[in-house]
Amino acid sequence: MEEPKNWWKCSNCEYTLQAATPPETCPGCKEKCNFIDATCYTPECGGPENIDPQIGQR
Ligand SMILES: [Zn+2]
Repeated sequence: MEEPKNWWKCSNCEYTLQAATPPETCPGCKEKCNFIDATCYTPECGGPENIDPQIGQR
């Protein structure tokens, strides 16, 4: 069974990655930061395969 993958965006450096759970340390800024769930949940942005443009491109 495949694990569902979410998009995560670092609130510090805006690094985005796709993973089941966000990493403890951000690969972008090497800090422990809050990852925002940036997964698209609406058909408008294409479903969970995609980043929600309102979050991912802010
Ligand atoms: Zn970061």
